[in-house]
Amino acid sequence: MLELNENQYKIQGIALTELADKYELPLYVYDAEIMKRQYNNLTSAFSEIPMKVKYACKALNNLSVLKLFRSWGSGLDTVSIQEVELGLMAGFAAKDIIFTPNCVSFDEIAQAVKKGVVINIDNLSILEQFGNTFGGNHACCVRINPHILAGGNYHLQTGHIDSKFGISVYQLRHLLRIVKTYSMKVTGLHMHSGSDILDAGVFLQGAEILFDTAKSFPDLEFIDFGSGFKVSYKDDDVVTDIEDLGRKLTENFREFCTEYGRNLEIWFEPGKYLVSESGFFLVKTNVIKQTVSTVFAGVDSGQNHLIRPMFYDSYHRILNISNPTGSTRVYSVVGYICETDTFAWDRRLPEVHENDILCFMNAGAYGFTMSSNYNSRFRPAEVLVVGGKDYLIRKRETMDDILRNQIPIDEKTFL
Ligand SMILES: *Cc1c(COP(=O)(O)O)cnc(C)c1O
Repeated sequence: MLELNENQYKIQGIALTELADKYELPLYVYDAEIMKRQYNNLTSAFSEIPMKVKYACKALNNLSVLKLFRSWGSGLDTVSIQEVELGLMAGFAAKDIIFTPNCVSFDEIAQAVKKGVVINIDNLSILEQFGNTFGGNHACCVRINPHILAGGNYHLQTGHIDSKFGISVYQLRHLLRIVKTYSMKVTGLHMHSGSDILDAGVFLQGAEILFDTAKSFPDLEFIDFGSGFKVSYKDDDVVTDIEDLGRKLTENFREFCTEYGRNLEIWFEPGKYLVSESGFFLVKTNVIKQTVSTVFAGVDSGQNHLIRPMFYDSYHRILNISNPTGSTRVYSVVGYICETDTFAWDRRLPEVHENDILCFMNAGAYGFTMSSNYNSRFRPAEVLVVGGKDYLIRKRETMDDILRNQIPIDEKTFL
């Protein structure tokens, strides 16, 4: 947990400014205790039914983080064959990895079958190819789009009618025809309605549709409710009440299992919920620039390292960890990328001086994994704080990383 004492922000007793000195900036820092707290909150909310967590590693895919989740008993949710490989490298058993791709080639799916992971199919064309190739020899899971609307940000919704994700629940008859014709074995049903579900009600509505759909599939072993758990990015954000959801869904799930005639497992695939709050992105203020309209605090990072504000219009809280208790002024915090590169407009921050270190909160999910080399900048280093100690888990890039894979051709060729 982030604590302010003796005018220092600390995690597990280590001052963030100390980590900035030691590893230099910009720097991603992750607090394993926060990941553990979130993991435990989820497992205890569903302790009365067989529930499995499949950590969605696209949120934060560092091998050390994957290993941490494995050590707690988590499985893995993956969306590319490369993520499958990372999971296997981190020591996950293939059966504990679910592969939930969208619009990938059948060839990639066949590769995942070879690795032995659970395959989740999200369109009828691939389902038919899967049936054609493997028939009943390979079980699969199918991703249903129940067309419930998660609240909040349109960019984060996947359940709407225009969504490219999942097989529409209205296509159920066609889906069943394919399953029957190829004697396929469907062992899981899946839904993932986007990253921004506001309350248990929406979730339960989707669950009811899935329970209803499940009656057409006699071989089920699990139902996977994906994710959509909301965490607080802003002080007044509504967050998912996980205990409340746990109580209600446990009850509905038990009723469903009785009706279905067998006890199934329930799976979740949270990314953001497990790692968002564990991440702190530290940057240095390069310049304070007064213009006619605002005061800019320009920092040594940008959308190349944390794209969410520009990409999704996301809000990230910002702290001035060099001056935690100074009197506040209004700033617009911007990056060094040659684009409109705004992290935040009109933020009240304790007075910011050049060289002050700012900290972006909720930087654990979709921070580093969405970073790039745009403007030929290096990706930052990553540090994991676990058991009261800090570990460098990814070094900062260098010029070699920018040049890797480039093949210069002889200049004479141009003459
Ligand atoms: C991205 C994704 C998740 C995780 O979503 P969060 O909002 O980070 O919890 C889970 N399942 C699937 C299939 C995904 O694509």
